[in-house]
Amino acid sequence: MENMQFQGSSSVIKSLSGQECQWCSAGSLSSTTFKGTEAVVCDRCGTPAARFW
Ligand SMILES: [Zn+2]
Repeated sequence: MENMQFQGSSSVIKSLSGQECQWCSAGSLSSTTFKGTEAVVCDRCGTPAARFW
């Protein structure tokens, strides 16, 4: 896996994960992977709060 350039973003993912969604206020953010990279999306509306390429 080519994860070396994403080491810095992992801590951002962790800090964002579990927070309330800023868009729908009903969901909470959970970490996932999007197209092979780490991302944080709302579990209700699916809006990505952070995405790293
Ligand atoms: Zn949401």
